[in-house]
Amino acid sequence: MKLATKLIHTAQQPDGLGAVISPVYQSVPFEHEYDRRGFEYSRSSNPTRQMLESVIAESEGGKHGLAFASGVAAITAALNLLRGNGHLIVSDDIYLGTYGLLEQIFRPWGIEITYVKAENTESFRASVKKNTRLILIESPTNPLLKITDIRAVAAIAEQTGILLAVDNTFASPVFQNPLQLGAHIVIHSTTKYISGHSDVLGGAVVVNDDRLYHEIRTYQRSAGAVPGPWDCWLTLRGIKTLPLRMRAHQENAFYLAERLQRHPLVSRVIYPGLPEHPQHELAQQQMSGFSGMVSAELAADLSGTQRFIKSLKLFPLAASLGGVESLVNHPAKMSHSFISAALRAEIGVNDSLVRFSVGIEDKDDLWKDIEQALKQV
Ligand SMILES: *Cc1c(COP(=O)(O)O)cnc(C)c1O
Repeated sequence: MKLATKLIHTAQQPDGLGAVISPVYQSVPFEHEYDRRGFEYSRSSNPTRQMLESVIAESEGGKHGLAFASGVAAITAALNLLRGNGHLIVSDDIYLGTYGLLEQIFRPWGIEITYVKAENTESFRASVKKNTRLILIESPTNPLLKITDIRAVAAIAEQTGILLAVDNTFASPVFQNPLQLGAHIVIHSTTKYISGHSDVLGGAVVVNDDRLYHEIRTYQRSAGAVPGPWDCWLTLRGIKTLPLRMRAHQENAFYLAERLQRHPLVSRVIYPGLPEHPQHELAQQQMSGFSGMVSAELAADLSGTQRFIKSLKLFPLAASLGGVESLVNHPAKMSHSFISAALRAEIGVNDSLVRFSVGIEDKDDLWKDIEQALKQV
């Protein structure tokens, strides 16, 4: 079966009453059956969560799925494989929540961390040390939409006996499947495209390897950062339309990126689908689509950029991404306001950078809104 069919039919069998849509199993305990291994207690496992885990595994073409209470809880589960020691290589321009997790929790706990340029494959190889255990990357990155050559980094990981984990949130399982490119672990913030309606937090890990699965599974039930049945159900409802939504996000993103590029008040547009993107060819090789995130630098100072953002009517200024509604983000004043100006400059996030999460509204309405707001710059 193809993805669009699998996401609707996998693991969501009717119950004994013939309900076409599986119910929410809003129960913590399940009756104990002495000699059969069924459900016992919802921190360990729950039927609604299990359905979601199966569907997410399918979405990535993977064997095992694990659901978590948030994207960062899923990343924490993967990083727990380090067992509080060893060296971790992370691509730069990483999601700021992940950066916070690494710097505030994992580094103080004893993990050594090296950041490398996401687009420079050789820098990954050069950073491998004797005690390196894991490489964590995002591709495309946030907010600069850099592309990491997943196949090449997976080959380095393979040669050196290191695990490669890929945060696939921005591409979604529709446009990129890192396990097929050689990664060992795929991570999602299902809060974003997978649930798709900005109304539920969640995270997921997908792996093929049985031992890896059992290790992360043990962590999941022991540490307990699991999503409730209702959140799982909402995510299951969202994921059914994922292929449809991703096509619409991409179509709109491409349309806006091309128009932004031609506008005199826009100095740079970053979208992996544009031939002008420095890694457009690599993106084409490892992705089957370019998703719905577009970043742009305005030919404006900080206050001009803020005037533009305040003038937008269809793009609320908000964190998060991947919902049906468009959003705009101002990294210098939001996510990246917590790091030093020097580090911002090093990463390449300047005051005039805006990031659009392009929704599935009518694309002409979206462009008209951006055009009128650019007049205020
Ligand atoms: C949002 C996000 C996360 C964190 O997910 P939460 O669900 O907010 O915990 C991690 N990685 C990326 C790329 C994200 O966009």
